[in-house]
Amino acid sequence: MKLSEAIRLGSTLMPQCACQLHLYRDGVKKASCALGAAIDAMGSEYAHIFDKPHYKNFKVIAPKEWIFDTKVSCPGCALEDSFYRIVAHLNDKHNLTRESIADWVEICEMEDEINRAPVQPEVAVVELA
Ligand SMILES: [Zn+2]
Repeated sequence: MKLSEAIRLGSTLMPQCACQLHLYRDGVKKASCALGAAIDAMGSEYAHIFDKPHYKNFKVIAPKEWIFDTKVSCPGCALEDSFYRIVAHLNDKHNLTRESIADWVEICEMEDEINRAPVQPEVAVVELA
């Protein structure tokens, strides 16, 4: 499952919250941000646990080098930061719905696939005599 798909699926489970992965009330998970929704959709058995001090127990489902090390620009204000921080920024600062964030993530995923695709040989037009 791609990150965009996980955000969309997880967003169907509970309302959206901001500034935290999940909102708990009386010990019960009541809401999720975009990344929290992705975590919920995947379940911990599919999650990668990254060895980052701040996110030692943060479970997400995108490749580490992509979500932490790739710099992207916010589509709303052009702020540049790592991918996961921009996802959180769109959720927390621009108040985008998780579905809208998933749409943007999907575009990034498609661009990433294009960039990693093998280079196609150039096609030449040959005029026949
Ligand atoms: Zn922004």
